[in-house]
Amino acid sequence: MKHNFGAGPGILPQQVLQEAAQAVINFNNSGLSILEISHRSPDFEAVMDEARALVKELLNLGDNYSVMFLHGGASSQFAMLPYNLLGENETAAYLDSGTWANKAIKEAKFFGKVNVVASSKESNYTFIPKDYEIPKDARYFHVTSNNTIYGTQIHQFPESPVPLVSDMSSDIFSREFDANKFGLIYAGAQKNMGPAGVALVIVRNDLVGTVERAIPSMFNYKLHIENGSMYNTPPVFAVYVSMLTLRWVKAQGGIKAMEKINNEKAAKLYAEIDRNTLFKGTCAVEDRSRMNVCFVMNSPEQEKEFLNFAKERDCVGLKGHRSVGGFRASIYNALPLSSVEHLVKAMQDFEKIGSSKPELSMK
Ligand SMILES: *Cc1c(COP(=O)(O)O)cnc(C)c1O
Repeated sequence: MKHNFGAGPGILPQQVLQEAAQAVINFNNSGLSILEISHRSPDFEAVMDEARALVKELLNLGDNYSVMFLHGGASSQFAMLPYNLLGENETAAYLDSGTWANKAIKEAKFFGKVNVVASSKESNYTFIPKDYEIPKDARYFHVTSNNTIYGTQIHQFPESPVPLVSDMSSDIFSREFDANKFGLIYAGAQKNMGPAGVALVIVRNDLVGTVERAIPSMFNYKLHIENGSMYNTPPVFAVYVSMLTLRWVKAQGGIKAMEKINNEKAAKLYAEIDRNTLFKGTCAVEDRSRMNVCFVMNSPEQEKEFLNFAKERDCVGLKGHRSVGGFRASIYNALPLSSVEHLVKAMQDFEKIGSSKPELSMK
């Protein structure tokens, strides 16, 4: 068995993979594959309906929200959000807390004015800026809840006088929060919700259809909502596997249960990073992510060796993003506590070997 710490596409529950594999051969005992049936068939309509209903149920969303499953990943939402919500002469406020936030800002500038209220770019995004004011006349305020690359996370969402919008690609369904405080939430599925190929978009209905401009059909939230995310052929398999994963989250006890185990996993790993003489964390302690744990070695020249050492013990996907270096252990919902314990053991064993090395080389 591999311990999959990859950042994305990330680990999925074993049970979900088995169900998905079965559906590729014979979906719902229909004698057909999920890959070869009409998206308008009652069987697939039921999948889409259940996926949307599970999102609403798990997040306790009110009836004033719509849920969409769309093509194009989270990156398309960087543009689709301002396309639909930000008028040409209006301003949107953004928090620049990482690479993805930065990309969202870049795209918003195609559609209106952007006010970056704070940025931690100067310090290579090692913390979440907290000292800022949200302008009351902004159309919305955009934050990235979890910085997948740098390993920081917003633990307390700001009180916002304007609709709060969040890219939650790498931590949606990982912890409890009040989703009804948000105007819009989006997430690419492939970190913590399903396979690549689909993005989840949740929007408060009163925000839809409020800009003056004409919007081409495929980029228009209103049209996708009216058509139940079936304006064109949806990414059928990605929606199906996401639905299975949401079912799995519910069966585990919902988000509350996920959060409990996620906190336990993160606490164990950070405790070892802080204790072990070879390793150190890369971010401000109070902003540490409970999904993407970034760390480096005090002696960077040992990093390659540890990566191989961990790989020999079946810990894969640990290489840090090129902009941070070192290691990144993504500990998404589907990663069991035992995998974190396995990694911690590898770090401890490596420390023992490492500390005996200098003597060896002196002989
Ligand atoms: C991975 C990621 C994205 C990009 O997602 P795509 O689906 O590849 O477009 C955007 N935002 C965050 C926070 C991410 O982790």
